[in-house]
Amino acid sequence: MAKVLILGAGIAGHTSALIIKRRLGKNHEVEVISPNSNYQWVPSNIWVGMGLMTTDQVKFELFPVYEKLGIKFTQAMAVSIHPEGDRNSGKGYVTVRFVDGDLKDTEKHIEYDYLINATGPRLNFAATEGLGPDKFTESVCTFQHASHAWESLQKCFAKMDKGEHQRIVIGTGHPLATCQGAAFEYSLNIAFEIKKRKLDHLAELIWISNESELGDFGMGGAFIKRGGYITPTKIFAESIYKEYNFRWIMGAGVSKIEDGVIYYETLDGEYHTQEFDFAMLIPSFAGAGMKAFNKNEDDITSEIFVANGMMKVDADYTPKDFTDWKASDWPSIYQSPVYDNMYAAGIAFAVPHPISKPMKSKNGNPIYPTPPRTGMPSGVIGRIVAENVADRILTGSTQHKHKASMAKMGAACIISAGYGIRHGQAAVMTVFPIVNDWEKYPKWGRDISYTVGEIGLAGHWMKLFMHYMFLYKAKALPFWWMIPE
Ligand SMILES: Cc1cc2nc3c(=O)[nH]c(=O)nc-3n(C[C@H](O)[C@H](O)[C@H](O)COP(=O)(O)OP(=O)(O)OC[C@H]3O[C@@H](n4cnc5c(N)ncnc54)[C@H](O)[C@@H]3O)c2cc1C
Repeated sequence: MAKVLILGAGIAGHTSALIIKRRLGKNHEVEVISPNSNYQWVPSNIWVGMGLMTTDQVKFELFPVYEKLGIKFTQAMAVSIHPEGDRNSGKGYVTVRFVDGDLKDTEKHIEYDYLINATGPRLNFAATEGLGPDKFTESVCTFQHASHAWESLQKCFAKMDKGEHQRIVIGTGHPLATCQGAAFEYSLNIAFEIKKRKLDHLAELIWISNESELGDFGMGGAFIKRGGYITPTKIFAESIYKEYNFRWIMGAGVSKIEDGVIYYETLDGEYHTQEFDFAMLIPSFAGAGMKAFNKNEDDITSEIFVANGMMKVDADYTPKDFTDWKASDWPSIYQSPVYDNMYAAGIAFAVPHPISKPMKSKNGNPIYPTPPRTGMPSGVIGRIVAENVADRILTGSTQHKHKASMAKMGAACIISAGYGIRHGQAAVMTVFPIVNDWEKYPKWGRDISYTVGEIGLAGHWMKLFMHYMFLYKAKALPFWWMIPE
């Protein structure tokens, strides 16, 4: 009997768990470790942050689902990986720390034959002084944060109702933050709501971001087909923001927040401040912060993880100039180069380099977006890792038949810009591939026939449909496995 241990029950880890258990059946053991007893459909946190969905609509308890499927669930936090086991046993294990209940603060060793690290991003608010919901800014990265953001936003609306002017700032809270798409989506939802409430004259809407230009989204921007024309995402995003009366501050590395004030540096080397009444700024992302040790208990963390804590996989990490980046630098099977029974899925794997051109301010400080890894690639990577591990267990083959490079994979992104069956709106963008490939597609960097963007009501319906469809799948309800990632 083989034992597969999965760290993390988010989009990547949960997808892996469901698929691997379905493939392996009762003859092998699957265990999931996660500090959170809930599964949350993170993309819908935007709607929680607008009071349009309750936190219960975007999450559910994992225990019953895993019990039904015969997957063991341990609610704990993985703190270290021991791929060679200890001196007595050569079997790899993970040390977990309990974060809740009677066992709180105690530790346990859990052995594995195959390990899938799907611990996602650690929200690194501490990297920017004053950032985060327990300091001066809001976040929509978790359902708890989104719910807190909605409470603050309501206060803003109440002040506007009384005729008070409000300055609302949305964007990135660190010079190297990612996830611009989520912040952009939240900004459009706020603008839509302000328009609906006829409060436009009292709101100053500001976008602040480390992208060198609007519409970069951490993927170097894109050329999209729209209504028969080829448009850069810069124009696409600018036209939407013009319509909603936004001002945008680009190439901004936010370094510090004080009560109502954002401190930032721009690419031209100037230092500025921006005042706010409400600010939602995405923090930088880091890895889960796990350590790794060999059987002699030597610290091998730097062999397994890169400096920010993301796990090294089959990517080409050789430092290269922007002009030398290649699609083939990107990993396709997400296997550790050091221990072949370890994999990383979703945001937990270390990218070889950014997608957007790395920029530095005139003072030499890096200011650019790190690559986004949205739900679709996270789910797809979770699936292929699960399929390959299941193949290894069931057939003994060490071939990896299933591959999913972000330089060969497309992604669809639906950016809602207002809620409602009749009046809702969303910008739908599909890009293929996610990582631009200038060798294969010299003209546009991507396949222009699959890289498209439209805005309208249909996109909103699609986003709503996806919310219910992906939660249905995550709950492993009948025929869940027929739903793609
Ligand atoms: C507000 C917002 C909106 C978004 N909207 C979209 C969208 O519209 N479309 C889209 O495609 N993508 C969207 N994304 C991105 C998408 O949510 C992520 O790509 C996806 O959640 C990444 O999946 P993951 O499994 O790698 O990480 P996560 O979903 O974050 O899961 C990580 C898991 O690991 C667990 N974990 C953390 N540390 C440990 C540890 N030490 N030990 C064990 N477990 C641990 C966590 O509790 C969690 O269960 C959005 C993101 C945000 C923040």
